[in-house]
Amino acid sequence: MKKFTLSATMLFIIGGNLLVAQQLYMPRNVKIAVENNTRALDGSPGKNYWQNEGKYDINVTVNPETKMVSGVEKIVYSNNSPDTLNILAIRFVNNVHKPEAPRGGYASDDFFTSGLDIESFSVNNESYNVNSKNWGTVAAVRLKQPLLPHSSIELNIVWSYPLSKQDGREGQIDSTTFYVAYSYPRISVYDDYNGWDLLPHNLSQEFYNDFNDYQLSVKVPKDYVVWATGDLENPDEVLQPVIAKRLKDSYTSKDVIHIANFKEMQDGKVTKQNDWNTWKFNSTHITDVCFAVSKNYVWDGISALVDTIANRRVSVQAAYNDTAKDFHHYAKWAQHSLEYFSSKWPGISYPFPKMTSFQGHADMEYPMMVNDGTTKDFKFAQMVQDHEIAHSYFPFYMGINEKRYAFMDEGWATTFEYLIGQEEFGKAHADSVYKAFRIRSYIQDPSTEEDQPIITMSTQVSGVGYGRNSYGKASLSYLALKDMLGDSLFKKALHHYMDEWHGKHPIPWDYFNAMSAGAGQNLNWFFNNWFFTNNYIDLKMDTIKKEKDFYTITVKNAGGFAIPFDLRITYADGQISTVHQSPAVWQKNEREQVFKISTDKIIKSVQLDGGIFMDYTPKDNWWKG
Ligand SMILES: [Zn+2]
Repeated sequence: MKKFTLSATMLFIIGGNLLVAQQLYMPRNVKIAVENNTRALDGSPGKNYWQNEGKYDINVTVNPETKMVSGVEKIVYSNNSPDTLNILAIRFVNNVHKPEAPRGGYASDDFFTSGLDIESFSVNNESYNVNSKNWGTVAAVRLKQPLLPHSSIELNIVWSYPLSKQDGREGQIDSTTFYVAYSYPRISVYDDYNGWDLLPHNLSQEFYNDFNDYQLSVKVPKDYVVWATGDLENPDEVLQPVIAKRLKDSYTSKDVIHIANFKEMQDGKVTKQNDWNTWKFNSTHITDVCFAVSKNYVWDGISALVDTIANRRVSVQAAYNDTAKDFHHYAKWAQHSLEYFSSKWPGISYPFPKMTSFQGHADMEYPMMVNDGTTKDFKFAQMVQDHEIAHSYFPFYMGINEKRYAFMDEGWATTFEYLIGQEEFGKAHADSVYKAFRIRSYIQDPSTEEDQPIITMSTQVSGVGYGRNSYGKASLSYLALKDMLGDSLFKKALHHYMDEWHGKHPIPWDYFNAMSAGAGQNLNWFFNNWFFTNNYIDLKMDTIKKEKDFYTITVKNAGGFAIPFDLRITYADGQISTVHQSPAVWQKNEREQVFKISTDKIIKSVQLDGGIFMDYTPKDNWWKG
């Protein structure tokens, strides 16, 4: 099939007007990637597309007495690029706990640790003298022998680090419960448009990782259960037979099975009674692994049907403090999340074998795991879990660069959270939560110069500027496009983008071009309007004129965003009619629209209603005769 090409300037004749399709601003490094054919202007990976990968074999020991995590790790790293690599960038996010590390916000004493300590480091069996004392969250190690294109290298690292007393995205949740994430040194991403990813982690921007294979072993004392990314390979070695059977039964169960209750955990009835047990997990083509351990959490399991044609079920687990009332529903809620995301939006079968929800304080996603806080508000708890599980698609299925372009994942998680919320609690509730939680503070911010174009690199905006671009504004752009294309064509375009790029590293221009190709129309005017401008949301009623048997209504778009809205017309006889306008009305003229309403009745009032597209000045959205 001939692919839709956007490289030439395209001419469209719409409504008798000749429009020259807009070209989107493209940074020079991205232009070079296109010239090198690693990315293509039709939105697909270029014919020379490559990405690097690693095979990780990690053996970790967690000592609950000392709160130390220590590891013996082998990485086989493949350089699939056409470049010779003279350094390896090693990333260890947990070094953000070092007092010297740059951070986006305040940290208390309980947050600080001494960070990573490397005991030995070798490359292809050659020992390296690395001084990890001076490492931040990313450090460059100069290779004694360069890594040539299309060749591999073997690293062996022995390391340890202390668990932070204050838990956030990881750390000590209680004295016998730990969330252990970002817990191993890894090779940072080397990519085709930017080379080595050397951006430090500062607690704000999150994931950008290669797709790797992981063999993870976690050694813990008896009575500690381990939950982790990947399939548990040895349940019979680490669990007592009754518990192992319940776990296996849960893999196909449609109802919640209580795999281990509090009394069983207290009475030593759950794990094998060896001094130490080693839990083994396997996962492939995935961007990260993490795990959690507890001696006192209870454990639920259920399964979700994520592919009705292949009849594929995945394991859903929840681990929590028995006192957390909302978590007693978490496994059941997660079952629903996975089934909804698989069948409705995005409507792609959940791409992993498992999902575990763990009670902490982070409200944070990881591959096959989420770490959520507990709350008395059950609707809010379910929404947060929906949001974190939605991240399974962006960034974990689609390996987007969240550090540079957080809107490529947070915007989608926010959108899916809103769509599943409509199904769970009704549209009115979902609308009101979305407006209150995602939009209001953005559109009503008195300090509007914080509001930057969405395309702005995530590291270049901070605080509320980062939050608005990543979550609410980006989500509104996705929902505006859905409104404009209609559900069926929007889903076709979204699936085209996801099919082209899952398991790879798309950047914003790949998204823009793939959506245009998938929709079969050049959408650059829309993407330019939403991503590359200082537009905001502000409609304004201008004039209404009555002429014979029709009215002429002129609407100004003072804010400029191409939003959908309703014209709500109330007639003198009490009849109300609502005319929906899709964002397409702004294509020809982004600043003004004239609507003709044919009627022999008298119009009493007209309202412009953007719904979740909240208006900066709603007062001027009215006309009353
Ligand atoms: Zn999120």
